[in-house]
Amino acid sequence: MDFQNIIDKYKYPEDFIPFLKKVYGSLIQFLGKDNESLVYQVFLNTTFVFNQNVYSVLSDHDMLDVNDIVGEKELKRASGVYEAKPIIQFDGSKFYVKDVQRLIVIANFSLDKPYTIATFIHELGHAIKAYHKEFSIEGDILIRRSGLIEERYQLNYVNGKVMQTLISKRNTGIEEGLNTLFEEKVMQQYFDPNYESKAYNGVLFMANILCDRFSLFDSFLNAEIYKDSQALIDFLGEANYDELIYLFERVYKLDLKRYDCLGNLDELKKVSEERNHIAHDEFLLLYNKIKMDRNRGL
Ligand SMILES: [Zn+2]
Repeated sequence: MDFQNIIDKYKYPEDFIPFLKKVYGSLIQFLGKDNESLVYQVFLNTTFVFNQNVYSVLSDHDMLDVNDIVGEKELKRASGVYEAKPIIQFDGSKFYVKDVQRLIVIANFSLDKPYTIATFIHELGHAIKAYHKEFSIEGDILIRRSGLIEERYQLNYVNGKVMQTLISKRNTGIEEGLNTLFEEKVMQQYFDPNYESKAYNGVLFMANILCDRFSLFDSFLNAEIYKDSQALIDFLGEANYDELIYLFERVYKLDLKRYDCLGNLDELKKVSEERNHIAHDEFLLLYNKIKMDRNRGL
């Protein structure tokens, strides 16, 4: 695990290396020595692209069709993205993943602007939480995992080509909340003690309370990285966990909807009120229920 291998492979510019080394070291310290090899693998196997338009870079790498996490409109204005594309082959009887291409694009990057560093940390968070068991195949179904997010694709072999069609996707809301919290914590600890994320405020608020009051940050991180939520489900209770995922999903959609009505103050107020009602009132009810269930030892 020699950091020099990463520099040699991608030939990053000389003046950029100290920063990259700091990010690398910070992430290993934050995630613990046990995850050092994971961070190394992510850096070694992910191409970082700075100061280019997210949509055009993905288009150039033929990676647009695989991205259903965000739509085309979001991608065109996105400040950053992590994307992975599996190379899937069919051997006549079964599908298998031959290779995976990974990419992080940061649209407007500057070492003087903490929020652009935060975007890089955020996307690295997605990459790190995706890497282990990112793609797996069950029969003719491709499963893609990124933290708690799980996408399923139908695979078809047509005219010598493997085609994939999205059939389902879940847990995006809770994952964005948790990953934005990850971004905030890493930024505050290593780059800017006053840093506050401006994105996904609803799901971030919920993730923060959940992790803080129940001391669940490490358990969530473990579940995200190693794709095993059982310990969390046992802690929270299965019905409560499902309800939590559902609340996060609704708040996440409203977090995104707020971007669409930034020019319309009345609409923005309406959407914000709706979001705050779920993220504060409905979430508080669930929070109290989890606390009561735990006190009763259910
Ligand atoms: Zn994200």
